[in-house]
Parts: sequence; structure tokens; C-alpha cells
Amino acid sequence: MTVRAGREFLAIPGPTTIPDAVLNAMHRPAVDIYAGPLLALTDSLLRDVARVFRTAGRAYIYIANGHGAWEAALTNVLSRGDKVLVLESGRFAVGWGNNAARMGVEVEVLKGDMHRAVRPDEVQARLREDRHGRIKAVLVAQIDTASGVVNDIAAIGQAMRVADHPALLMVDAVASLGCMPFEMDAWGVDVAMSGSQKGMMTPPGLGFVAAGHRAREAHETAGLRTPYWDWTSRDGDVHYQKYAGTPPEHLLFALRQALDLLFEEGLENAFRRHRLLSEAVRRAVSVWAEGGAIGFNITEPRERCDTVTTVLTPGCDPEAIRDYCNRNCGVVLGHGIGELSGKAFRVAHMGHVNAPMILGTLSVVEMALAALGVPHGRGGVQAAVDWLAAEVKA
Ligand SMILES: *Cc1c(COP(=O)(O)O)cnc(C)c1O
Repeated sequence: MTVRAGREFLAIPGPTTIPDAVLNAMHRPAVDIYAGPLLALTDSLLRDVARVFRTAGRAYIYIANGHGAWEAALTNVLSRGDKVLVLESGRFAVGWGNNAARMGVEVEVLKGDMHRAVRPDEVQARLREDRHGRIKAVLVAQIDTASGVVNDIAAIGQAMRVADHPALLMVDAVASLGCMPFEMDAWGVDVAMSGSQKGMMTPPGLGFVAAGHRAREAHETAGLRTPYWDWTSRDGDVHYQKYAGTPPEHLLFALRQALDLLFEEGLENAFRRHRLLSEAVRRAVSVWAEGGAIGFNITEPRERCDTVTTVLTPGCDPEAIRDYCNRNCGVVLGHGIGELSGKAFRVAHMGHVNAPMILGTLSVVEMALAALGVPHGRGGVQAAVDWLAAEVKA
């Protein structure tokens, strides 16, 4: 006997739930790629993607996932033999660095771990030691989707300025753009990248990169440039060239609708919604953790991010919980990845999410804990409800 008929809740950290309006926006015929409304659509999207990154710099839209956007970011500003400093706080910045290494870039990892954020003072100290300016760029993820950590990009930018180091600051905002503040220009970020399928509520397949003026200077002499990713060849007036070939029309229709939804809600409101719903998840997990079988992966409460919560499971089998939720209730949780494989599950609260989706998901997790006999504190869902009821005023 299951209770899974009805709408499935996808609570994995990407791809995320796509709004019906975004799905519907794609259900239309293809259009001319050389003239007509598509040209204005491209202009509006490039402008609005830059607006979401909060930069006066230029944005680029690639037919690519986040891994493609990683490569786009690297090839446009680096040369073979350049050195980059990767700030570890989970899996993703390290993954970006591994790709850079395969392209002939020298990679140094500033050691961190799976359970905490990057320490800006450690970045400052390492850059101070680099007296000859060998390090050309610093790579960091704003939110690491494996660990569930949020890094303080403003403080890291500030640390680089205090160290008086010229390296470019390159930020992965795949799991954070549209969900929490990102201030590319104000924080001194030179290159930012993201993707369509997480906070941006659009199907997978678009990669975004934004470039500030220091990045454009580095671009002039970058030796890793290739025809597909190259900014300069996408900069001209020829529409076809802006995508280095046929534009991904239907994904662009979808992105337009998703951005309209985001602006209609207001970025600040969307950030606040994420903050409230993520705290509801944290309230529930805190109560469940009293049973000793599960707990937070990120040790320091203020380093826990607003888009995904990684729950460690030292006293139970995370796959049994995921399996119960999926098979019996139609709730799809994320699994632990990397060194947390088999040791954690993840609850995403990213993009097109609301209170019933989050409270429903939490209720199902609590139901799984009870059905599987996992020791847990009672009343996690109640704590989430109490939190939201206090914050969302009548
Ligand atoms: C998902 C994710 C990526 C990778 O994106 P893909 O579209 O899967 O290639 C990179 N960085 C972060 C922080 C992510 O969450």
C-alpha cells in the first residue's frame, strides 16, 4: 500500500521543479533565427541575466550545463600554465579546478573540508605569500550543493583586496543565483557563472557567464580561448554569432518566462522566501537530530545555505529513507555525493518552491523516520510550521 498517486515532489538540488508557465512557454513553433522577435528576446535575456548577477558587465548565454559554463569561464581568461587557487568547501569548486587542470592550468587547492565554509582570512594569508603574483585566479562556489555550505563571497573579495592581490575572483553561482543575494560588481567578482536548471527554474541546457572589466582585460591575452566559448566572437551584432550557431530557442522562451516570474515576485522577495523555507527545513532537522541518528553536515549554523540542506545519517541508512519517501509518497530527495555518498541525504529548497511543497516534503521525511524506526526527536514538522507561522504574518 502506498500513498504516492498525485503530483511528485522533486526535492533534489537540480534540476528543480519547473513552473507550469515556464513549461507552457516552450510549447510553440520554432521561429526565424535571423530576424524578427528572437533578436529582441536575446537582447532582453542578456540584459536580464546580467541584472540577476547584478553587474554592469556583459553576460553570455551558452547551450551548456554548469560544466560547460565552467569551461567557458576558464577558457576566456586563462592560458595554459597559468596558476589558479581553488577554495575547497565541498565538491564543486574542486570539480571546477579539476577541469581547469585537464586544460593545462596549474591548480592549487586551499584545503577546506566538507563541513565548513571557506575562511576568508586563510585566503588572504595564502595570497599574501604569493609575492610574485603567480596566482591568476581564485575559484570558489557561493553555495556548494554537496556540502550545503554558503561561502561569504563579499568577505572573500574583501580579503583579496586587503592582500592587494591582482588575481581574478571567479565564482560558481549555479546553486545560488536567483535564490540569495549575489552582487557581482559590489563584491568585486570578475567572472561569475551559473546554469538554468536550479534557482533559475528553467530546464537544464543553458549556461550563464558574466564578465567584469578586469576579466575582459585578461580575455585579451587568454591563450585557452576556443571558437565556441569565445566572448569576442559572441560580442558582435550578428545574432547567430551570439550563440555560436543556432540559438536554443525553446530554452530561451522558457528562460524569458522564468525571469518574468522572478522579477514579478521581486528578487528580494524570492531571497526572503528561500530564507524562510530553508530555515523551516533547518528547524525540522534540528528537532529530528535530538534522536542522535541524523544531523547537519555543516557544523556552524550560519554557514548553512538557503537552497539545500545536507543531512548526515550516522545512525541510519539514508538510502532507505530516500527509497521510502520516493516509493511510498512520491517525494524525491537528493542523495549524498562524493565523500558523503551513502552517508547523507539532501533536501533541496531551491527555485520554484513554496510552503506546501516544503512542509509536505518535511512531513514525508518525518513519516519515513517513524516508519523505518529511526530514532528522532518528535515534532520536527511542528517546529517548521511554528517558524513559518511566526514569520509569515496574518
Ligand atoms: C549543479 C552544480 C554544478 C554543475 O552543474 P551541471 O549543470 O550539472 O553541469 C556546478 N556547481 C554547482 C555549485 C552546482 O550546484
